[in-house]
Amino acid sequence: MKSDIQIAQEAVMEPITEVAKRLDIREDELELYGKYKAKFSDELLERLKDEPDGKLVLVTAINPTPAGEGKTTTSVGLGQAFGKLGKKAVIALREPSLGPCFGIKGGAAGGGYAQVVPMEDLNLHFTGDFHAITSANNLLAALLDNHIQQGNELGIDPRQIIWKRCLDMNDRVLRNVVVGLGSKMDGMVREDHFVITVASEIMAVLCLADDMEDLKRRLGNIIVAYNFEGKPVTADDLHATGSMAALLKDALKPNLIQTLEHTPAIVHGGPFANIAHGCNSVRATKAALKLADIVVTEAGFGADLGAEKFLDIKCRKAGLKPDAVVLVATVRALKYNGGVPKENLSDENLEALKKGIVNLEKHIENVQKYHVPVVVTLNSFVSDTEAEVAYIENFCKERGCEFALSEVWEKGGEGGIALANKVLETLENKESHFAPIYEDSLSLEEKIETIAKEIYGADGVTYSPAAKKELKRITDMGMGHFPVCMAKTQYSLSDDPKKLGRPSGFTVNVREVYVSAGAEFVVAVNGSIMTMPGLPKKPAAFGIDVDANGTITGLF
Ligand code: ADP
Ligand code: MG
Repeated sequence: MKSDIQIAQEAVMEPITEVAKRLDIREDELELYGKYKAKFSDELLERLKDEPDGKLVLVTAINPTPAGEGKTTTSVGLGQAFGKLGKKAVIALREPSLGPCFGIKGGAAGGGYAQVVPMEDLNLHFTGDFHAITSANNLLAALLDNHIQQGNELGIDPRQIIWKRCLDMNDRVLRNVVVGLGSKMDGMVREDHFVITVASEIMAVLCLADDMEDLKRRLGNIIVAYNFEGKPVTADDLHATGSMAALLKDALKPNLIQTLEHTPAIVHGGPFANIAHGCNSVRATKAALKLADIVVTEAGFGADLGAEKFLDIKCRKAGLKPDAVVLVATVRALKYNGGVPKENLSDENLEALKKGIVNLEKHIENVQKYHVPVVVTLNSFVSDTEAEVAYIENFCKERGCEFALSEVWEKGGEGGIALANKVLETLENKESHFAPIYEDSLSLEEKIETIAKEIYGADGVTYSPAAKKELKRITDMGMGHFPVCMAKTQYSLSDDPKKLGRPSGFTVNVREVYVSAGAEFVVAVNGSIMTMPGLPKKPAAFGIDVDANGTITGLF
């Protein structure tokens, strides 16, 4: 079997202007970034405003193994399959972060014969959006420290600075740093922190903003610190909004590329799925709905995080109504949830499968709580056995749940026809009555409890004293109506990565709470969450190279 990058490099791409034609986009409505990448112009977005919306399909997954379970691969393959069936479909995905490319996981352009291309560009610098976000984030940090240096008129309490610097790299030594060492002219000495760019609030803000005006409003509201009186200090207070927005002018525009089979793919934004909402940009999704009859989009991690936030944060805030959810399962992840260690996931093990399948069961029930029709798909791996596949198919049928095997990794769009037909059938015959799982008017505690009990299956929630205090402060600041963004492990429905399957009899512990006032959600942190990852002993970077012709190898 060829590697992902080999398959991607053998692909003969169409000029992006041709791909755009499939969506009836004219060349002068694009801003070209070379031959195979383009951004949507403001004129295009303006023209689309009154077009009718297509159908919105979310791809999500059960609780994954550490390798990822193929949501992106399935999303891309499903889009390709719709193309094969002659449907006007488009894929709306997140942009990959550089960190994981050089770490363990690798890129995020899909896999096998279900990929978006040019994958090297997408996985590395792409159209520069992440660099722009990094710059805007660090401009705000520089203005903040400069404000203190220049006399601190706002009375910023250096012990209560929240804003962190960022970098799109896995670099653990930057998690906790001291800045301002040196002489008087080198700034005020203080402890500082770096997060990875995808964890920057600016990333979440960019992904939730409707337009430039809304972007500026949100940027201005970002809380960077508290003053000596305990009152919030915002980016507006630091006069940072205009210059940050200027840096983000182009990053705000959705990017267009293509799949291996020339299906249009809009790839834009990429917030973390723990401390942020884990979805591509609202602008990209809305444009996609205007351009195509079917839009396939993906949310990060498993459905307990990704789908919950897609539905309770993104769809609520953007007024989107999903028409169907595709729930990706793999034999491997179900066995992992049944207690099989990572090394042995390729061996047939029906006992473990039976034990782990309760995880799938819970995720089906969860999606149904939002009143959106669900189709389960098994992302087929060569190591899967017939008995294992049959067991999962039966399990779904017994529960009256639509099921289709997906072989897109091996066969591209052709391998996704069965799934595409199931999704089409579902869109035609089953109506979505989407509603978020909690009302805006509930208290923040009630929202957290609703998610913990209804989605995770917890008995209840406990709070650290600091979290309790902060919830009160946020409510007193008039932000109690915001949705909640839960930050917890992706490996378990609970907040303990070791509790696999369908855990019960547990409580969720909220350790820390803070408001992302620009993104307009309240982050509740359960367990320890990494916002600046590190590199493993043998990073993927060791295998990456480029030759004299500029051909990149080893990027998987
Ligand atoms: P997710 O979006 O859920 O994180 P990805 O689609 O990015 O997962 O896939 C993670 C990795 O698994 C990729 O390297 C991809 O090539 C690989 N992969 C996905 N599906 C399959 C499959 N059916 N067989 C083998 N490898 C796969
Ligand atoms: Mg993915």
